[in-house]
Amino acid sequence: MSIAENVSRIRAQMNAAAIAAGRDPSEIKLCAATKMNDADAVRQAIAAGVDCCGENRVQELTQKRSENAYAGALVHFIGHLQTNKVKQVVGKVDLIQSVDRINLMEAIEKEAARQGIIQNILLEVNIGREASKSGFYAEEIFQVLDQFMNFPHLSIKGLMAIPPVCQHPGENFRFFQEISQLSVDIEEKKYDNVTVDCLSIGMSDDFTDAIACGSTMVRIGTAIFGARNYAKLHL
Ligand SMILES: *Cc1c(COP(=O)(O)O)cnc(C)c1O
Repeated sequence: MSIAENVSRIRAQMNAAAIAAGRDPSEIKLCAATKMNDADAVRQAIAAGVDCCGENRVQELTQKRSENAYAGALVHFIGHLQTNKVKQVVGKVDLIQSVDRINLMEAIEKEAARQGIIQNILLEVNIGREASKSGFYAEEIFQVLDQFMNFPHLSIKGLMAIPPVCQHPGENFRFFQEISQLSVDIEEKKYDNVTVDCLSIGMSDDFTDAIACGSTMVRIGTAIFGARNYAKLHL
């Protein structure tokens, strides 16, 4: 199946999941997780109508941008970001989804202030409390928000999470519901410069479950591009 066929199949599944949940399909965005896929594949996904591209690695972001891969499309950063690489990302992407620690927030703030811009971010939540994953624990999120006035060059647009790998269908519901509730709790507190319009949950294997639980952005790689080929991409 071509990338275009995959995107239209996924859209149909997204729409069906939204309608089954009594939601408006237009409120759910499709982010193509483009890691390990080259500029040509990225262009095909954009032509097929994905809402944005999500890159994991600074090196790939920089290389594909230099190849004009994203032409006109929104670009998000979705991978682990080292503080010494923020200069290559801040002001160059529309949204940094993977803000997972305070010292990264500080580094992004400093760079955004230097550039005189406001950088849109999501806070990444370690929803399964896994040692192997990054992200704030749910209860830390409120500590972050309580000191958010110290970050005038950041604007929080919502939350992102990667739940634990689940063995059984439906097992991830608990995690998705927990983060969905967290975004409701944040909304109720009405912090300045904080919205939770974006709830970025759901990947190739579980995006319909995520939509059932309130996802407004799914990040999909394999189901769009096929299995990632680590030998193919020359970077
Ligand atoms: C790779 C990746 C995805 C997409 O994963 P698939 O299972 O290939 O759909 C989504 N989010 C992040 C942060 C990723 O790194």
